[in-house]
Amino acid sequence: MRTITMIALATATATFNVAVAQPVQQTVNDWQDAFRQLEDEDWPSPNRERRATGAPGPDYWQQQVDYDIDIRLDEEARHLYGTETVTYTNNAPDTLDFLWFLLDQNRFRPDSMAVMTETVGGGGRSAGRAGGSFPDGISASAMRRRQMIEADGYGFNITGVTDADGEPMDFTIVDTLLRLDLDDDLNTGDSVTFTIEWDYRLVETQVIGGRAGWECFEETEDTGGDCIYQIAQWFPRAAAFSDYEGWHNKAFLGRGEFALEFGDYDVSIRVPQDFIVSATGVLQNPDEVLTEPQRDRLEEARTSDEPVFIVTPAEARANERRGTRSMATWEFRAENVRDFAWAGSRKFIWDAVGVEQDGRGDAPDLVMAMSFYPNESEPLWSTFSTRAVEHTLDVYNEFAFPYPYPVAQSIAGPQGGMEYPMITFNGGSYGRPMVDDDGNLSYSLGSKRGLIGVIIHEIGHIYFPMVVNTDERQWTWMDEGINTFLQFQAEQQWEEGFRSRRGDPDLISAYMASSNQMPIMTQSDSIVQFGSNAYGKPATALVVLRETILGRELFDDAFRAYSERWRFRRPTPYDFFRTMEEVSGVDLDWFWRGWFYSTDHVDISLDRVIEGTFDTEDPAIESLLERADDTEFRENLTPQRNAAEGIVTYADRNPEVQDFYSANDPFTVTEREREAYESARERMEDWEAEILDSGTRVYYLDFTNEGGVVMPIILEFTFADGTTDLVRIPAEVWRYDPRNVTWTYVTDRQVVSVELDPLRETADADRTDNYYPPRIEPSRLELYRSSSNPSSMMDDLDLRVTRDSVRTRPE
Ligand SMILES: [Zn+2]
Repeated sequence: MRTITMIALATATATFNVAVAQPVQQTVNDWQDAFRQLEDEDWPSPNRERRATGAPGPDYWQQQVDYDIDIRLDEEARHLYGTETVTYTNNAPDTLDFLWFLLDQNRFRPDSMAVMTETVGGGGRSAGRAGGSFPDGISASAMRRRQMIEADGYGFNITGVTDADGEPMDFTIVDTLLRLDLDDDLNTGDSVTFTIEWDYRLVETQVIGGRAGWECFEETEDTGGDCIYQIAQWFPRAAAFSDYEGWHNKAFLGRGEFALEFGDYDVSIRVPQDFIVSATGVLQNPDEVLTEPQRDRLEEARTSDEPVFIVTPAEARANERRGTRSMATWEFRAENVRDFAWAGSRKFIWDAVGVEQDGRGDAPDLVMAMSFYPNESEPLWSTFSTRAVEHTLDVYNEFAFPYPYPVAQSIAGPQGGMEYPMITFNGGSYGRPMVDDDGNLSYSLGSKRGLIGVIIHEIGHIYFPMVVNTDERQWTWMDEGINTFLQFQAEQQWEEGFRSRRGDPDLISAYMASSNQMPIMTQSDSIVQFGSNAYGKPATALVVLRETILGRELFDDAFRAYSERWRFRRPTPYDFFRTMEEVSGVDLDWFWRGWFYSTDHVDISLDRVIEGTFDTEDPAIESLLERADDTEFRENLTPQRNAAEGIVTYADRNPEVQDFYSANDPFTVTEREREAYESARERMEDWEAEILDSGTRVYYLDFTNEGGVVMPIILEFTFADGTTDLVRIPAEVWRYDPRNVTWTYVTDRQVVSVELDPLRETADADRTDNYYPPRIEPSRLELYRSSSNPSSMMDDLDLRVTRDSVRTRPE
């Protein structure tokens, strides 16, 4: 740290030139105003549907679409046959003469836009290499998938569309969309009812992918084999029609998810008689499909302190070996949901517990948290699944609003992580223990946390976007980013030391500094590095906004306001941005611009610290300092070596050139100097003298914004006496120059070191320039890479579990 001692105390006000009557220029050469507003630039003008406050306006409207559906599973053919009667209510100010529906299964047709545009590289299914490079080979599973898509006839067969009188209606299919031409114009406030019949072949999820389908298991000594069906995107669903986009008719390419309307559903599901079925909604005919003991256990579970088996592991094991040809119909009703999914299997173990909550508004006082899973998922699922559902409700209720539905369900099966109203698919590899050659089971810490994490995430989606109904196809970050932010909060409250995969600023800095990126505000299907862009970065942005920019209280108020305002409504990004600013009272346009509209990263460099102490002008003090300076000069290299060599100076050899200054101490204070000082002191104001006498130090700190994102500067000063001071400088410090600033810190203690971002809260990508004086950064070098087998601590320690070892009640 360099010391300068010659700071004059200037009493005059600093003056600087102000340009007069210039037109407003926010961009001059390469200078940009990082703090200009986004209104009119990137945000739409407010209107009567959506206000500048971020709230829904007085003319806000949305459509209502109610469904009455009968569906039948032909298990042998793995085929579904359905009929739906739709009641579409037009609340828009527009008259409609046609309606659009989503036929998502059509993405598996060989001639679909999704299949025809699959590329090597990019962000799609075959990702993994840089775009444009020629692959070394194609995986056997990719080949098999391609062949099945060519041969197996996936996609919807629409076998009939009829109006309320049973007369056929005209329709046109455009890739994954169906346009239904109405017989009569549908005016504002009116409803129309019609019926669609369809069927389609179910995909094998682990081969084809696609958020739903089936998986069959091998029969072992322990288990009976058999299959699990997870059914979603299974009926023609009304496309969204909104005030800001009209019909949302972007084809389903497989990644950008869904934009849907709320409605009430009555669904009859016909499946083999020995199936257990879980679905969006509440079971309407338990007397017909559940045994008396099952109904009793379900009742017991409502008030139990811990999950109760409705179907025990032993019962599920017996069930999956039986098989039957007779059929049963499960009837469900769901109110105010934007979608409907279901799952069925004779393999299902079923447990449940009632979760009490503050049922304010129309939320229920008691929610049934339930899980459905096969014996293959034991013992992890009966230990953690329903508990994780319960924990998610606790945390999300606190951040957003009380869970608005009567059930929240977690289903194991082929799909590893997908959300629907009241029901989530958390299967795939999540929570399946490893089995060694001797049949012993173990699971890793990673697989336990993976299961808990995925359940929190998917149950969390029931809030965002199933209730706060964002357009997932356009803005993935609005559901995935916001939900991953809350998942991080819930994980951190699950157990101490939970190593979340996303959310902590440290986890995103390397991605943000990488080159192959696009802004968060990019259409879903065009995003590369999807997980980091749409999940990790926006989740981290919200963590930073909460912890560093706004503080918890302001953030939580604003976030709750957003959640409540848009609960059961359709917000856009601008409604979110505006609400967060309006409610917190903090202008955040600079933050959205840096984090959501740019690919810049955070990297602030602390370049230099200069310590200033005041020139007291007291000759008694200053002459001592000058003498010290003189002594220092005499210790420099040339004078030292001359002395060591015994060089005798010319003046020593020739005394006749020695004069007054040779004989007298040049730092002696003269009487005249003393008098001049005393009279200057007398002319000084008291407060000026006080500053001079205080021993105050002024530190000048130079910063460079290397990453581009303007951010608060957080500094920890350590003093010579060992004490510290944490200082938070708002991001507005960069407003004159977003690249370089010099900032002053005034203290009466001597600073010995400064650390930038000491709590690692800003996602600063390069910490080597965060210390003054610089320090050596530790790094661990890997000497060689060992085999990549997933390690299980239980396995290493030779700990064994059995499928029944963790929980065995009730039998
Ligand atoms: Zn998600």
